Amino acid sequence: MAGAGIDAAALDRWIRAFAAAITEHEAELTRLDSAIGDADHGANMTRGLKAVVAKLDDGAATGPGALLKQTGMTLVSTVGGASGPLYGTFFLRMATAVGDTDTLDGAAFAAALRAGVEGVVARGKAEAGDKTMYDALAPAVDALDAALGGEDAAGALSAAAAAAAAGRDATTPMQARKGRASYLGERSVGHQDPGATSAALLVQAAADTLG
Ligand code: ADP
Ligand code: MG
Repeated sequence: MAGAGIDAAALDRWIRAFAAAITEHEAELTRLDSAIGDADHGANMTRGLKAVVAKLDDGAATGPGALLKQTGMTLVSTVGGASGPLYGTFFLRMATAVGDTDTLDGAAFAAALRAGVEGVVARGKAEAGDKTMYDALAPAVDALDAALGGEDAAGALSAAAAAAAAGRDATTPMQARKGRASYLGERSVGHQDPGATSAALLVQAAADTLG
């Protein structure tokens, strides 16, 4: 990836675009979680992202690291359920990876994204194929790394978004081995994972705003 780089204003656009996508897809996330969970993923994420946008509107956080940290803290404290600490940790780990840099180039953004995904694993212990958000996030960071260098920013992020969407779709035939859906055993097969669905929205929002 090349270009002007990703600054706090760009990250602000990304997170707002994610919030808008979550609001737009709230009913779908609820429907997916009602099939293999407790029907709260849409409400959980909408509540959390509304609080995140309110903090962005306050404008207290300046700089990429502060903005990502504020987002992570807000998600941890406002989202009930498993997804709150997981998405919260994702943004907090991204913040740590970014440090006090003002502008991230493509490699720095990809590294921060990978650190965020590693945080999700540290927190939730998910492995590939467990039917979680990790199954959308992991292919996305791999695709982003693979596209770095070759593609421009827009192309690399589009590849990451396509990989996240494919990873989301691939959760349907999986049997859940983590989270609430795992209680269903074989009955979790045949349903798309709600967390993988929201995670694909996160990556698509990056492609829409950061390319
Ligand atoms: P809860 O399951 O507590 O009701 P949500 O409905 O908000 O929380 O989120 C459910 C989503 O969280 C799942 O679809 C799955 O993608 C994700 N998830 C649950 N447990 C884990 C885990 N251990 N690691 C990664 N993701 C997980
Ligand atoms: Mg739920």
